[in-house]
Amino acid sequence: MLKWIENYQLSEHNSFGFNAIAERFALIETLDELEQALHEVNANAWPLLVLGGGSNLVLREYLPGAVIKIAHSGISVLANDGEQAIVEAGAGENWHTLVGVLLEKGLHGLENLALIPGSVGAAPVQNIGAYGVEVSDCLHSVTAYDRLTKEVVQISKEACAFSYRDSIFKSRDPGRYIIWSVRFNLSALFTPQLNYTALQNYLAEQGIHQPGALDVYKAICEIRSAKLPIPTEIGNAGSFFENPIVPDSDYQRLKGQFPDLAGHPERPGYYKLAAGWLIDQAGWKGFSENGVGVYSKQALVLVNHGEGRVVNLLELADRIKASVREKYGVELVMEPRIYPE
Ligand SMILES: Cc1cc2nc3c(=O)[nH]c(=O)nc-3n(C[C@H](O)[C@H](O)[C@H](O)COP(=O)(O)OP(=O)(O)OC[C@H]3O[C@@H](n4cnc5c(N)ncnc54)[C@H](O)[C@@H]3O)c2cc1C
Repeated sequence: MLKWIENYQLSEHNSFGFNAIAERFALIETLDELEQALHEVNANAWPLLVLGGGSNLVLREYLPGAVIKIAHSGISVLANDGEQAIVEAGAGENWHTLVGVLLEKGLHGLENLALIPGSVGAAPVQNIGAYGVEVSDCLHSVTAYDRLTKEVVQISKEACAFSYRDSIFKSRDPGRYIIWSVRFNLSALFTPQLNYTALQNYLAEQGIHQPGALDVYKAICEIRSAKLPIPTEIGNAGSFFENPIVPDSDYQRLKGQFPDLAGHPERPGYYKLAAGWLIDQAGWKGFSENGVGVYSKQALVLVNHGEGRVVNLLELADRIKASVREKYGVELVMEPRIYPE
């Protein structure tokens, strides 16, 4: 049964660990509860935040209206012909748990996305990606509640319009769909995706030349753990900025000025630059002030050392953006969503 809790503290529901009070909060486990919650949200014209694990959000100190956390669970194999399988997972399942369950079932495709924090339901929102794989590579379809038509709909992979850290859920129709479950197309045969140099190097150092699924999974977990702070220890939201995609001409101009510039071809005529490199070379790595800072091992990650406030973090983000703009003429775009905007 739907139960709103008033003045709910969200510090344990966002990976930065910021204090943030929701005017009202409800945990949603069934479609009935979701419909009931949305009925009240609409009737009262409350602003609404749909929350997963809070690992891609920068929450301000007060969230008026309503926050609902989707807790729909369950992982089931819908079809498996011995070569290909379709698996459905509830939006409230933990992403990394799903990757582990699939590994145990011998169903492959998501190994490179191990250890990404957050929920299954949020994975399609920004088309999570890491180490050369994006969730869209294995996504079959999304089942969502459409707030416009008030119906549960199934959205095909093509209709999700996935691109780098983007989908209809994030930019074309933000707020329209509440993702209820996600279906994945997986393979019983394992084909390693090893186009990332860090992954190749790690496996080579371990003497693994023909990696199996477990080798890749373990390698990804090791590499990520060495590079990224654990949110329960140091508050963060992973990459704070997207890697900028610039026209070829800008890339060549910058490469002339900065021969070590890190970037690679994205699509014909465009290069993707490493935002972490730009920030690092602008001198920010390890910077710390007012309880917030730039992680000492990875300049792309902004952190809350515990006592930081959201205003300090956003001020720091603006200063970093300004210095990267000034040094390289490149505009950084924030990856996590600020709420309320
Ligand atoms: C240490 C660390 C490492 C990370 N590494 C990566 C990485 O390698 N690659 C990567 O892509 N991301 C990475 N991230 C970012 C984050 O883990 C992902 O974006 C993740 O998918 C967010 O999931 P979440 O459940 O926490 O979403 P939340 O932060 O709760 O929400 C994110 C957005 O999705 C919306 N949303 C959430 N659930 C639903 C739903 N059911 N229906 C509709 N909308 C919904 C929210 O409203 C919000 O707009 C990292 C974060 C951290 C802290």
